[in-house]
This record gives sequence, C-alpha cells and structure tokens, in this order.
Amino acid sequence: MKQKITILGSTGSIGVSTLDVIARHSDRYQVVALTAHSRVQELAKQCMQFRPKVAVVGSAEAASELQSLLFAHDLNVSVLFGTAAMCEVARDCDVVMAAIVGAAGLAPTMAAAEAGKKILLANKEALVMSGQLFMDAVRLSGAVLLPIDSEHNAIFQCLPRQVCDGRYPSNSEQNGVSKILLTASGGPFLTTPLDSLRKVTPEQAIAHPNWVMGKKISVDSATMMNKGLEVIEAHWLFGIPVEKIEVLIHPQSVIHSMVSYVDGSMLAQLGNPDMRTPIAYGLAYPERISSGVAQLDMAKIASLQFEQPDLKRFPCLAICFDALRAGDTAPAILNAANEVAVQAFLDKKIGFLMIPVLISEVMSKITNRRATELRGVMEQDLLAREAANQFIAML
Ligand code: NAD
Ligand code: MG
Repeated sequence: MKQKITILGSTGSIGVSTLDVIARHSDRYQVVALTAHSRVQELAKQCMQFRPKVAVVGSAEAASELQSLLFAHDLNVSVLFGTAAMCEVARDCDVVMAAIVGAAGLAPTMAAAEAGKKILLANKEALVMSGQLFMDAVRLSGAVLLPIDSEHNAIFQCLPRQVCDGRYPSNSEQNGVSKILLTASGGPFLTTPLDSLRKVTPEQAIAHPNWVMGKKISVDSATMMNKGLEVIEAHWLFGIPVEKIEVLIHPQSVIHSMVSYVDGSMLAQLGNPDMRTPIAYGLAYPERISSGVAQLDMAKIASLQFEQPDLKRFPCLAICFDALRAGDTAPAILNAANEVAVQAFLDKKIGFLMIPVLISEVMSKITNRRATELRGVMEQDLLAREAANQFIAML
C-alpha cells in the first residue's frame, strides 16, 4: 500500500526536493495534499504532475487564482486556504513533510504531531518555538518524528539504533553518548574582514557557498543564527543537554554532523550537500531508497577542515545558546525577533550587523515566561514581533 503524503510548503526549496525524491518512487508514495503560501503558478504545476486531492494556499485571492488555473486544465483538486485548512491536511494523511518556513509552520506541524503522524521535520522554527509542547504532543500521540535538517538527520543516523526506534528523547548517559557535534559551513562571510560586514547586501548574504536554500535560512546561515536554532532543535529532538552540544565550523559541508561516544569513538555521516539525501532517508526509514544524489568522491575532496566558531563574528550563535539556557519562551522570542530582523534586512531596512543587535534588544525587552499551551507561545511571538518592529521604526 502506498503511503499518503502531505507536503506543507511544497513550493519551497525543501518541498521541491521532496517532490523530486517522491517522483522517483511513485510505487511507494502518493501525494494527497500540497500547500503553498502565494506561489500559485508553481503550485498549479505541481498539482498537474502529482494530482493531490487537496491544495491549500495562504489567502482567498490565491485560492481563486489556483482554482481557475486548475479548472483550465480540467483537474479535480479541492482548493482551500488558510491555517485551519493546512492543519486539516496535516491530519488527513500518513506522512507529513513539514517544510513551511518560520513560525507560520507551527500550527500545521503541531496538528500533525497531535494526530500521531509520521512527521518529516524540516521546519526547525516550530520546534525552537515550542520545544517542550511539541515533544510532549509527539510522545502523547505516538507520532514518529524524523529530522530532515541535514545535521539532525546525520545525528539520527549516528545514534544507536535502539535510540532511534525508542523514539525521543534518548538517554544520552545510558547510550554512551558523550557529545554531539553540529557542523556548520560558516556561510558566505566566514573569512570576510569584520569591518566589511556592515556593508554586505542581501544578495551577498543569500549566496551560500555549498547549499541552495530559501532566502530566510540562507540569511540565517550567514549570521549563523541557523546553527544556533539547530542547537536548540538538537536539544529537543535528542534530549541532549546544552553543555553536550558543540558547534564546529567545517567549510566543505561534507560531514553533516557527528556523535561522540564515551569510549572515544566518533561517528559521522558524510554526503554531498543535497537535501534529497536526508529527505530520502526520512521517507523510507528504516529502509534506504535512491535519492538522485551523486556519491561522494573522497579522493577528489582530498581534505576536510575544521575550526572553532568565532563568537565575535557570529554573535547570533551565542544569543541562541543563552536563549536555550534561559528556557521557557526565550527561544520563541528569539525566533520571532530573528524572523522580523531577517525580513527587514532582506527589505534593506536594516544592515546585516543590526540583526543580532535587534534580537538582543527584543530579548531584553520581553519578559521570559513559561507557556503551558500554544496560545502562550504565540502571545510571546506576537509581543516580540511588535517590539522588533518598533525598534526598526525608531532607527
Ligand atoms: P522556502 O522559503 O524555499 O520555502 C518555504 C515554503 O513555505 C514555501 O512553500 C512557501 O509557500 C511556504 N510558506 C512561506 N510562508 C508561509 C506562510 N505564511 N504560510 C504558509 N506557508 C508559507 O524555504 P526552505 O528553504 O524550503 O525551508 C523550509 C524549512 O526547512 C525552513 O524551516 C528551513 O529552516 C528548513 N530547512 C531548509 C533547508 C534547505 O536546504 N532549504 C535545510 C534544512 C532545513
Ligand atoms: Mg541544517
């Protein structure tokens, strides 16, 4: 029987890579729903190729545009719009690829967790915002959570099999895990002179040396906020305390992360930097399927380099470690401030170096509170966005 898949964020970088892998294995997977925000033309093309039952977009206008495009091609796809519809399609399937970018993905990803689905998690912001609530929902419903972020997918592959099968969190002491090492390319500004960083443009920031990704995560990679968010993501996914998570710069992006064990062993997962590898792994787990990614040519790569991250160059990384230590809704405040800051930088309203300044300012303004339900998290998210926008308006 084919597995029925919903892809949240199908028009994005991860969404498109997911459909590429699925197209290679149409005997195993059936796409039942696709969602996108506003890129209606792309979504219509995907509907023509994959024939889902439902397509969901962000607004009524986008829905009527999509409806007409599909009607012209005589396609029988139900077109819906809005967050409630995205939550609905996340419940009505076997597998959910959670690939919406940012806080917008939280509600549908949480709906999939509460409904006990197999979740392929790319939307790291959902977990950063609501780590405890999300993991509680996964445990309560018996959902299967498979990390797609390449680093977390690598760690998942390097952890003892019984940890993966027992689901999360692992007990790192009992399993002999002494540390996890998240590798980071260092992004496009790893060696840029510090005094030139003030003037870098959005175009330079999104030109990642190794990965092709959406704009938001590309800017996050340039500030290393992405790695900071991944530290928080790893903490929740694997139940690993913050002091056992280390970040290591590895400019080639060949080793996607490592797990260090008490006996001195260190396991790593290697591969070409192409998200179709972790996506294929998540789709077929515990089996392996082809992904379209070429094998690594180790002789050609010849050498791999590593270095400690420079926190003066990448203050966002330190801000994330602090937010994780602070706990409660500090990571949600951080995430919201970062989303506003990144958008303002892409819109050329603030400079690159203002991103960490703005985030720190917002974090000092908003009182960190515990949230026992999603509503509390969303309230903190909103307060942080308001404070960030006020700060930008005053500049
Ligand atoms: P992207 O910008 O290319 O795509 C984002 C998708 O989300 C699009 O389909 C878009 O329509 C949808 N979307 C955007 N705003 C929305 C809204 N308000 N409501 C509903 N849908 C909305 O992003 P991406 O690079 O594919 O990243 C997606 C997620 O995966 C992010 O959380 C990112 O951190 C994570 N991720 C991406 C990569 C990568 O290589 N691209 C790697 C690891 C993790
Ligand atoms: Mg990553």
